[in-house]
Amino acid sequence: MNINEYKGVVVFVEQREGMISKVSLELLGKGRELADNLGEKMTAVLIGYDMMDKTKELIYYGADKVIYADDKIFEVYMTEPYTKAMSTIINDRKPEIVLFGATAIGRDLAPRISARIHTGLTADCTSLEIDEENNNLLMTRPAFGGNILATIICPNYRPQMSTVRPGVMQKLEKDTSRAGEVEQYKIDINESDMTYKILEVVKEEKEKINIEDANVLVSGGRGIGKADNFTILKELAKELKGQVSASRAVVDAGWINKDHQVGQTGKTVRPGLYFACGISGAIQHLAGMEESDFIIAINKDSEAPIFEVADLGIVGDVHKVIPELINQLKIVKE
Ligand code: FAD
Repeated sequence: MNINEYKGVVVFVEQREGMISKVSLELLGKGRELADNLGEKMTAVLIGYDMMDKTKELIYYGADKVIYADDKIFEVYMTEPYTKAMSTIINDRKPEIVLFGATAIGRDLAPRISARIHTGLTADCTSLEIDEENNNLLMTRPAFGGNILATIICPNYRPQMSTVRPGVMQKLEKDTSRAGEVEQYKIDINESDMTYKILEVVKEEKEKINIEDANVLVSGGRGIGKADNFTILKELAKELKGQVSASRAVVDAGWINKDHQVGQTGKTVRPGLYFACGISGAIQHLAGMEESDFIIAINKDSEAPIFEVADLGIVGDVHKVIPELINQLKIVKE
């Protein structure tokens, strides 16, 4: 492999039901920065059906160019057609870096592509930088249960590929004055590329919880005492037009479901305001919330590690502090 032939940054743009996912816009922001550091171009690859009208958005969020593979077969994600499409485009265009979201789709697709095109993949990166000495991509991720951060390189193969969790990178401001090229790319998919057919898509019926999108999160840990005590956290969240989230300890205890979990094995969040109530601040929890704009920690132990990342620390009993906070908020609103 002549690695010098590989140039530019590619972002795989994920879509569901014709809507571009938030993580893809975040990756376009990071991809733009990496491409600028390398002095190269950034291309967004969109695989979908009847989505030509969405391609401009990708340019507005930082892409120089969009490669769009349009086919009815790509309407709903399926491993094999998507693997074939993405591998074909990578082999054809030879990018230096390829980024995927660490979502159910990205985690299914990226490893298959890495095997198909024979290159490395670093999963769940929390930081991506260019090594100024040799232009290698420095891919950093938590390792050994989150106790260390490992920086991984892929010096001998191209492209350098990584998946990145939603909420870790920041999307750029939408700039409708940006211009770029859109190229339609034809991929031939035939019966032999498919080992299964989707007959029907049935959505699991559940309350839609998307803590990643909340601007205010009121997060409860083991220190809140019992499942019923989430009621008071919900009340505070309601006052602040936010949502309730949680540490893994309380998810494991069955006090709240996994959709609410923040942290290394939960969701990565970056709200404007994050309340950590009765949460000790284990490294695996911090990994999911320390980028929040403003963190308020309430803990009865003044030595709790959560205070090291908090912008405002309240040493006290959550059962006293939170009802008082709610009272004060109601007074302010009157
Ligand atoms: P605890 O650590 O038990 O802390 C409870 C806190 O509440 C204490 O600080 C205590 O002082 C305080 N407290 C008690 N009573 C009160 C009161 N009345 N008022 C105020 N404060 C009070 N954890 C996550 O959260 N998310 C993850 O994604 C995650 N992934 C993990 C992955 C791996 C591989 C491993 C090994 C662990 C992971 N963990 C994760 C678990 C993590 O290590 C901690 O065990 C967990 O975060 C602890 O949850 P907690 O802070 O709610 O509970």
